[in-house]
Amino acid sequence: MDYRSMQLQQLADGLRARDFSSRELTESVFAAIDKTEPVVGAYITLTRDIAMKQADRVDALLSEGRELPPLAGIPGALKDNIATAGIRTTNASRMLADFVPPNDAFVWRILRQQEMVLTGKANMDEFAMGHSTETSAFHRTRNPYDTSRVPGGSSGGSAAAVASGEACFALGSDTGGSVRQPAALCGIVGMRPTYGLISRRGVTTFSSSLDQIGPMTRSVRDNALLLDVLAFFDEKDAQSVARRTDSFVREADAPFGQPVIGWPQSYFELNDLRGDVKALLEKARDFYASIGARIVPVDLKTLDACLAGYYIISSAEGFSSMNRFDGIHYGRRSDGGNSLEDIYFHSRSEGLGTEVKRRILLGCYALTQENYGDYYLKAAKVRTIVKREFEAIFRTCDAILTPVTATPAWPLGSHPEEMGGGKYSNDRFTLPPSLTGMPALELPAGMTGEGLPVGMQLIGPRFSEGALYRLAAAFEDAHGLLPTPEEVKA
Ligand code: GLN
Repeated sequence: MDYRSMQLQQLADGLRARDFSSRELTESVFAAIDKTEPVVGAYITLTRDIAMKQADRVDALLSEGRELPPLAGIPGALKDNIATAGIRTTNASRMLADFVPPNDAFVWRILRQQEMVLTGKANMDEFAMGHSTETSAFHRTRNPYDTSRVPGGSSGGSAAAVASGEACFALGSDTGGSVRQPAALCGIVGMRPTYGLISRRGVTTFSSSLDQIGPMTRSVRDNALLLDVLAFFDEKDAQSVARRTDSFVREADAPFGQPVIGWPQSYFELNDLRGDVKALLEKARDFYASIGARIVPVDLKTLDACLAGYYIISSAEGFSSMNRFDGIHYGRRSDGGNSLEDIYFHSRSEGLGTEVKRRILLGCYALTQENYGDYYLKAAKVRTIVKREFEAIFRTCDAILTPVTATPAWPLGSHPEEMGGGKYSNDRFTLPPSLTGMPALELPAGMTGEGLPVGMQLIGPRFSEGALYRLAAAFEDAHGLLPTPEEVKA
């Protein structure tokens, strides 16, 4: 069946109208997985048997005439840092290669109650540290639009699964951009909601003051629907906040009005921003002006400071959250070593990859007594300054339009390993919302001449998800969905 041309609401309607069964839908998605997965490699673990059972269960409930929640019977994927009881959850690390969690993450519990069909656990950068999914201890994921290129990361498996039709939707996690950046490089829609809007309970912590879960979908309304399902207060996540709307989908469909969109000129003058990326963003800006938005230049000075501040804060917090993986408390225990210290040493040496070790070392360095004031405290101050800068802009603007990445997807293996290189700075546009806790929505802006997707980012003040969806829906309604990789190749 042709599920690729249908959005989530249409799939839900089709299942209820009995136009097709959940089994048919699920089998079609697994047929796509059989065809594409050997090349794309979006998953670490496939859960075909579980999926078929879930599909049959939904079909049985539907034939009893039961009313089911919106995602019932629809196949989706979860990033492999989201705990799924009884299903291996590896964080793409050797350290947790055989780890089967005893509990469900809050979001998976909600999705199970929704009767969603789980296709599998998606590949990612190890412990979500990275931006190309190449730090996974298992295998690389390839970009469905050009399989010689990266899908982005760290939620690269989730993005590639949705882009290639190996899932109808997916969840990722976003600490510094890991939902928005791979969504942009794979031509799908990715939301980083307001900090705390989706519970992180049961999601492996990278950097607690930054981590967020985000919906990854083909369309804007799919994304709003998924957020509607997931945004619930969780008293067991200390950072959880209550939503302020009963329907993001309805807000996406509200009249466009005359929003004010900030255009940070300095972002578009950066040397590494590719010309075709810039041109697509300017076209988007002109489109918004043509339908009644007011575009105003805004002055943002903190982008470089965000980059430094983010890597200090995330590595410092990452250092402390990684401490528990020592082969004794958690994680695979090395056979080498007789003393306690030896066991720690060998377990961590063998179990963790280079990028994770690099972050641990950087975080540890920044937190030592001699360095704390120069690095960690300074980074915390940077964070406050960035917050004030954005809050000031949102006194007069409804949203800010920015690039997501300076370039489209780059070739696999092409980025230098060393810190401070292009690899890290290519990420910088996604960092301000992470540091400020503000929501940011990525959606496709178009494609380059070589057929690679380019994303744009709409940033808004806290709890402005509805307004961001409305802006994005207006663009999507006028431009249509991006052609799928299959359509591009045809
Ligand atoms: N690429 C960024 C990093 O490597 C962001 C990762 C993330 O959001 N999980 O830290």
